[in-house]
Amino acid sequence: MTPIAVVTGGTRGIGAAISRGLKGQGYEVAAVYHGNDSAAAQFRQETGIPVFKWDVSDDRACRDGIAEIERRLGPVAILVNNAGITRDGLFHKMSWERWREVLATNLDSMFTMTRAVIEGMRERCFGRIINISSINGQKGQPGQTNYSAAKAGVIGFTKALAQENADKGITVNAVCPGYVDTAMVAAVKEEVRAKIIAGIPVGRLGAAEEIAHAVSYLASPKAAFCTGSVLTINGGQYIANG
Ligand code: NDP
Repeated sequence: MTPIAVVTGGTRGIGAAISRGLKGQGYEVAAVYHGNDSAAAQFRQETGIPVFKWDVSDDRACRDGIAEIERRLGPVAILVNNAGITRDGLFHKMSWERWREVLATNLDSMFTMTRAVIEGMRERCFGRIINISSINGQKGQPGQTNYSAAKAGVIGFTKALAQENADKGITVNAVCPGYVDTAMVAAVKEEVRAKIIAGIPVGRLGAAEEIAHAVSYLASPKAAFCTGSVLTINGGQYIANG
């Protein structure tokens, strides 16, 4: 049976590249999104990958959504926790709502999505969980205390879960992209964007496909010995400016 891969935020940006990459590797992919129906419909049309709409910070919605995917497609073998948002601002001006929104989507989703698949993976003695963190979870970024805290949390979650499930054929790894050319980075002001690129030794933003290739490796059976790792893909930015 073709293994089933679920990619959250799988219809746009890095997630869309991951979905396409996994499909190209022969997996049956289900892409989860939240609000952008037209992007999801276009992605569905272009790729033939089925899309599912729910909020990854909603525990009930994740359980119901995974149950629906498993009913329609089969048991989930690969979970890519990619959905994420930013709500930037200096901490001394940050509202509780902006803090909670970022923590809910980027970190609570590690619980809600993973909890919905982990028991099945343990029963079947196979699973691949790949969590998308960020360079800013590794180094901290001014204006992003909420995002940096959530993404650092993703790394801790990954390392603990990897140890809990290593004897069950389940690997759990984190990928930390640097700045990648997606809508998330396009939202940044032009002068900030130029400053970001100046701080990247390879002299450019990353491409979503460059992150997707790493995810494809981690999802593959060949990556069975790779667990609890944090893979940094940032054009040298962290070592140069971390
Ligand atoms: P985009 O903003 O391009 O896409 C985000 C995706 O996540 C969309 O599909 C969106 O759905 C989905 N999403 C957002 N919130 C929810 C939610 N509550 N429930 C379900 N789906 C949701 O993001 P990127 O591709 O740029 O980023 C992908 C991941 O990579 C994120 O975790 C981000 O933090 C991380 N990252 C990105 C970097 C970058 O430079 N771009 C750098 C480092 C890390 P919809 O289309 O419906 O809005």
